[in-house]
Amino acid sequence: PPPRAHAAHAAIALGSNLGDRHATLESAVRALALVPGVEVRRVSPFIETDPVGPGAQGAYLNGAAVLLTTRSPRDLLRCMQRIEIAHGRDRATTERWGPRTLDLDLILYADRQTEEPGLTLPHPEFRGRLFVLEPLGAIAPEMVDPGTGHTLARLLDDLRRAEERPRASGPGA
Ligand code: ADP
Ligand code: MG
Repeated sequence: PPPRAHAAHAAIALGSNLGDRHATLESAVRALALVPGVEVRRVSPFIETDPVGPGAQGAYLNGAAVLLTTRSPRDLLRCMQRIEIAHGRDRATTERWGPRTLDLDLILYADRQTEEPGLTLPHPEFRGRLFVLEPLGAIAPEMVDPGTGHTLARLLDDLRRAEERPRASGPGA
């Protein structure tokens, strides 16, 4: 286990929509647990969700995990990207939001807020994504989003209400 001094809690989202999705997510969690300076504290159940993005693609299996880590956010993200590649993700050919064997996103890193090339914290889109907030809210409802000051339980509740309401505008309204 990593030294507890200077360790930070991090929340990550996992997704897969190609191949044996369940095996891929399980394997990704095992790979994370093997990274020196990373302790996997909680893992959510995996849920099936409809794909967002271009063209026809298969349903996603999504999950979330809470880590305790002594690694920096950038270093942790680098480790996550290495795990994506080890699971067959080809960043050169895979289009953004296209099908992928494994997607690992860093959602929260302690109370860190940053916007730099290649790393935005908190993750810029997570507050609008049920496929992130449902699994993450289930294992870390008390975690606080430093961007809004709201707990994940609150963000999940807000998003569920917003999704239930008919849209004021937009296609299909
Ligand atoms: P997406 O996850 O949005 O479908 P990618 O996984 O291909 O798409 O990520 C696109 C880029 O987002 C990556 O090059 C990565 O550096 C950047 N990025 C910025 N902030 C984050 C974050 N918090 N977590 C994961 N990726 C991030
Ligand atoms: Mg990603």
